[in-house]
Amino acid sequence: MDCPFCGGETREGAIPSGRQLKWVDSGAEDSPWGAGVPLNGFFGGEIKGFFCPGCRRVVLSVPEIEGTAEMLRRTLDTASEKLGAAKQQWEARREEEKTRRRKKNFGEKDPWEL
Ligand SMILES: [Zn+2]
Repeated sequence: MDCPFCGGETREGAIPSGRQLKWVDSGAEDSPWGAGVPLNGFFGGEIKGFFCPGCRRVVLSVPEIEGTAEMLRRTLDTASEKLGAAKQQWEARREEEKTRRRKKNFGEKDPWEL
């Protein structure tokens, strides 16, 4: 690939890292829950790109990696969906039990009392 800055020839390679590296916009603060753009996986890994020896710049490819905040949001959404489904199931079961009990009580009552 030609360098987008000086047009010189670049060398293809990668930045190896044992931890996750993130892009953080100027002025933005990052934290483990921050909205930085992850450049590699949660436990690190290579960040592929091109190095221009002419102007000493690096051009990186940013893979689609879910950030911690998005991961957390997705996990919470899934948990909330499961909770909602469990609540519905519980309510349905309770309603069923009520109906069953009502029928049972109805059966035990003296028909002349009704
Ligand atoms: Zn260059």
